[in-house]
Amino acid sequence: MSESLSDYLPLVRDVPDFPKPGIVFKDITPLLANGDAFAVAIRTMAEPWRDAGLDAVVGIESRGFILGAALALELGVGFVPVRKPGKLPATVLSESYALEYGSDSLQVHADALPPGARVLLVDDVLATGGTLRAASNLLRRQGAEVAGAAVLIELAALEGRAGWPQDLPLRAVLNF
Ligand code: AMP
Repeated sequence: MSESLSDYLPLVRDVPDFPKPGIVFKDITPLLANGDAFAVAIRTMAEPWRDAGLDAVVGIESRGFILGAALALELGVGFVPVRKPGKLPATVLSESYALEYGSDSLQVHADALPPGARVLLVDDVLATGGTLRAASNLLRRQGAEVAGAAVLIELAALEGRAGWPQDLPLRAVLNF
């Protein structure tokens, strides 16, 4: 078993024209289905955060739940979901953000974390960066301290990193 995540790169599958024409979707389901690859991905994402004093991992719906829940267990902290509108049952805070056409929003339970909790944001893919930025704004409004973000894949050509606060770590383990 290789401990180098780059050896598992072929398990990230390009699906052209999904979910709409012109988008090349990075499908991580083959990587998740491979136990060695999944374990190495989680360990690689977790490594820089082991001594970061985190209180929780915040995963963004829905592939951020898969990676985020595994990372929370790996780091020995709790997991908090950030969801699409209308999914969380109790009182929520919402954050809207612009898409190429129109807008979307993310929600978190207002009482999900105690004030000042240090959190790591997790998603599968950093594309334009709008989703991660909105999640970060949302968590700060909730009262948490955002320690940084971890993604499995960065699509560097889309320059999502440019809109992320320069003083906060944003770590990607695979770059395309
Ligand atoms: P963005 O807000 O543009 O950074 O988009 C990030 C969100 O959209 C993440 O939650 C990703 O899961 C998803 N996403 C965007 N582009 C892709 C892509 N090419 N392949 C897979 N997921 C993507």
